[in-house]
Amino acid sequence: MSTPLAGLPTRVEVYEVGPRDGLQNEKAVIPVGVKADFVRRLLAAGLSTIELTSFVPAKWVPQLADAEELLELLGPLPGRHPVLVPTDRGLDRALEAGVREVAVFASATETFAQKNLNRTVAASLDMFAPVVARARGEGLAVRGYVSMCFGDPWEGEVPLGQVAEVAVRLHEMGCTEVCLGDTIGVGTPGQVHSLLGLLADRGLPVPELAVHFHDTYGQALANTLVALQSGVTTVDASTGGLGGCPYARSATGNLATEDLVWMLHGLGIQTGVDLTALTAASLWMAGQLGRPSPSRTLTALAPAQEGIACSTPG
Ligand code: MG
Repeated sequence: MSTPLAGLPTRVEVYEVGPRDGLQNEKAVIPVGVKADFVRRLLAAGLSTIELTSFVPAKWVPQLADAEELLELLGPLPGRHPVLVPTDRGLDRALEAGVREVAVFASATETFAQKNLNRTVAASLDMFAPVVARARGEGLAVRGYVSMCFGDPWEGEVPLGQVAEVAVRLHEMGCTEVCLGDTIGVGTPGQVHSLLGLLADRGLPVPELAVHFHDTYGQALANTLVALQSGVTTVDASTGGLGGCPYARSATGNLATEDLVWMLHGLGIQTGVDLTALTAASLWMAGQLGRPSPSRTLTALAPAQEGIACSTPG
């Protein structure tokens, strides 16, 4: 038995983003039945917080054009299952589908706001404010993402004050959770410590913060550990390390859920996740996609992965 390190939480909420963030950049459209099966396998592995899909216009993200169909196939689920909704129309669709939690996605940098949302940072926050207000009025929880918190491929290192401003604004407009995204995975533990300290100084309640790391430079777990030491208890991860950011130079994407769970359990922190069942779910999905997962833990635990053909480069 390991001895828990001082100052760490006894339980962490693993916020699974595989079905949405993980699959959204897949080139080949994945059948909705496969997506539903993936979600069911994740639930069976004990993941109770799963971001399911996105109610964005189909032309923005063709892979997620089946949002309504997926939710209908899944039916009511136990746990927390947010969906992304950038606009009022997206919120209409989510409410019609019986969704209880939505997420909006802001950017800390002007360049990414333009590329991702076709607006300035200020204009995108103005677009989200009425959506968040209406969602809260309907009794929904709302997660607000801040992308590019530590670095941006066009603007370089992002001033922490700039990140804090967006995070504070999302919290003030009614977001019940603010998630700090290292969208291209360039952040390091010192930056994470500084940003979380600054946000606490600006009055953001740390229990309402979440972190979303990418493993581009192999820093995702180190960054997670520092976030936990700063009081964060909600950590995003993607089963099999699926997904990434099309703007990141490396193919390495989201922190793999298996890698996160391995570390947390090693620290004596509860997650509710059964790592064996999660490994099986992840292997199954890798088989569906026809390529091995970059997860180090999955590779260590499941040599069967070697049998999966690598059908796409990278
Ligand atoms: Mg991501």
